[in-house]
Amino acid sequence: MPDLSAQPPIVEARNLTVRFGESTAITGINFTVQQTPDHGEFVAMIGPSGCGKSTLLNVIAGLVSASDGDLLVNGEAVSGPGRDRGMIFQQYSSFPHLNVMQNVLFGMSVNSGELNLSHSGRHDRAMDLIREVGLVGHERKYPHQLSGGQQQRVAIARTLAVEPRILLMDEPFSALDEPTRLEMQELVVNLWYRVHPTIFVITHSVTEAVYLSERVWIFSQGPGQIAYDIRDCIPPTAGIPPLVAQQKRDFKEAVQIVTEAFRKVVGDDQTASPAARAVLG
Ligand code: ADP
Ligand code: MG
Repeated sequence: MPDLSAQPPIVEARNLTVRFGESTAITGINFTVQQTPDHGEFVAMIGPSGCGKSTLLNVIAGLVSASDGDLLVNGEAVSGPGRDRGMIFQQYSSFPHLNVMQNVLFGMSVNSGELNLSHSGRHDRAMDLIREVGLVGHERKYPHQLSGGQQQRVAIARTLAVEPRILLMDEPFSALDEPTRLEMQELVVNLWYRVHPTIFVITHSVTEAVYLSERVWIFSQGPGQIAYDIRDCIPPTAGIPPLVAQQKRDFKEAVQIVTEAFRKVVGDDQTASPAARAVLG
């Protein structure tokens, strides 16, 4: 057994600040997220619009640089995007001129040297992923021939194809109708449970945050900081469909606690329940 206590956190922020010109998007962000070979954390970020959630995700992705402080991945300062981090956006995540199979193959061919897979090995891996996200029979279709949910399935398969250890998702299901969103939530939780990457997801929905993740960060109004890091009260949901999970008592309690924390950061905290006070102070 390797000594995991000797491993650096997979993602760590040390006093991270990002400014755009005169304005500060996030300031003084500190956290550590650990990963073991059989477990990556699933973190959901929620908070008022404009508080810096996308900015933080973009720093982790290597698309935006720190103005002050550090963002470390595996103990090293991030200097740009890398195959270890895959990003899934709300829309436009797939290449419109490539069909489903070609989209999934794309990432693999770019990194074929690192991945060390033959042509047929890549094809087999792509087919496995297409099956995994429920798109068998659609391999030759182009994004415009697919529904929004199917397009997000392509984006997930394409991103997973290069086996990133960190998945970054910025409001991935916001553009989807409710039944499709629930299907996608279940798909992602089950993928996470089996593949165990570290996942950061931004969402507007408290229910979605509680269902997906095991740790919820609530951002304060800009310049953003992590006002609450809630983990112990978030129940596991792997293998449980969203509508079933939502009926459970511990799930409802977690939704209440996160909702009240959200109210506190926007200055509406007169309704704190005993359960929420116990967690939030
Ligand atoms: P959120 O995702 O929480 O809604 P963002 O991270 O997108 O918030 O934005 C945080 C703040 O930083 C906002 O005030 C936004 O206008 C500003 N901002 C984000 N990206 C840029 C950019 N590239 N240039 C200038 N300002 C930006
Ligand atoms: Mg955003």
